[in-house]
Amino acid sequence: MLEIRNLKKAYGNYHALLGLDMSVREGSLYGLVGPNGAGKTTAIKIISGLLSADEGEVFISGIDARHEPDRVKELIGYVPDSFGIYENLTVREYMEFFAAAYGMEGLVARKRCENLIAQVGLEDKMDFHVNALSRGMQQRLCLARALIHDPRLLIMDEPTSGLDPRTRYEFKELVSELHDAGKTVIVSSHVLSELSQMCTDVGIMENGQMIISGAMESIMARIESSNPIRITIMDGMNDAVAIMKRNPHVKTISQNGHQFLVNFDGFREDEAALLEQLIGADIPVREFVREPGSLESYFMQITDHTEEKVIMRNDY
Ligand code: ATP
Repeated sequence: MLEIRNLKKAYGNYHALLGLDMSVREGSLYGLVGPNGAGKTTAIKIISGLLSADEGEVFISGIDARHEPDRVKELIGYVPDSFGIYENLTVREYMEFFAAAYGMEGLVARKRCENLIAQVGLEDKMDFHVNALSRGMQQRLCLARALIHDPRLLIMDEPTSGLDPRTRYEFKELVSELHDAGKTVIVSSHVLSELSQMCTDVGIMENGQMIISGAMESIMARIESSNPIRITIMDGMNDAVAIMKRNPHVKTISQNGHQFLVNFDGFREDEAALLEQLIGADIPVREFVREPGSLESYFMQITDHTEEKVIMRNDY
């Protein structure tokens, strides 16, 4: 659906994008995550055709955004991170204004606007002035507006920032419904936990580059395998250490009484083989478990270079 290659953008001397690569599958709900200043908004504005890149390529459904910007804009619905000011417009007028911008008029425009307003749950606010709406309602209205031309790709820049937890939850539900209905969705946030529950794919950006991306499941599997295995045995400590030392996947071992923390780079079947070796040597294993990891802690680890990342030492 979206392919970005080597995207570069500088503001004066400041390089906001340093060769960004990004790939979004058709039908995915893609979380674009990164700390403040990572370059998410810059990337989103370039994808949406609001900003031009200095270098690099953007393809949407195979169409080159540089050569056919109008065709690309038809495919995209963009929800910005700020609402703008539309003092004298009611919700209905606001929507009809944008419908007109897409060439819709009369009854067709009216029906389309009413349907979208209802879809985002604002049907009883039809005649309210947009500036009188709460931030959450304004965000929903922005979403309705972005859907006016029935785009295939919906791009939202930090849509839940500034919303209270309940409104945030409702907004995420709405986004999930749109995704279930077949839209490809890109949503950015600097808070990973905002997105990790709802997204099918994730890309983590830092300093203008993508540092890790892929399907949520494969990233979770990588996180899992980066956590140590906790092994508790009742007896036979020396034999257990000897077996572990011989295993090529064991990188480090820390011991605390009857418990070991083993840094292990193998897959699940390799874990099972190690357990089998221990049991086969008559070592009474009471516990053998991968320490659970979260995407959040992984995100903190890979985006915070000031902290030591080695979590254990070989001190046996
Ligand atoms: P946030 O989560 O804070 O919105 P972001 O990941 O969206 O951050 P961008 O808004 O793309 O990041 O900004 C990337 C960098 O480029 C930041 O350091 C920002 O200060 C800088 N920047 C963005 N827009 C401009 C501009 N118009 N002029 C100069 N610098 C800019």
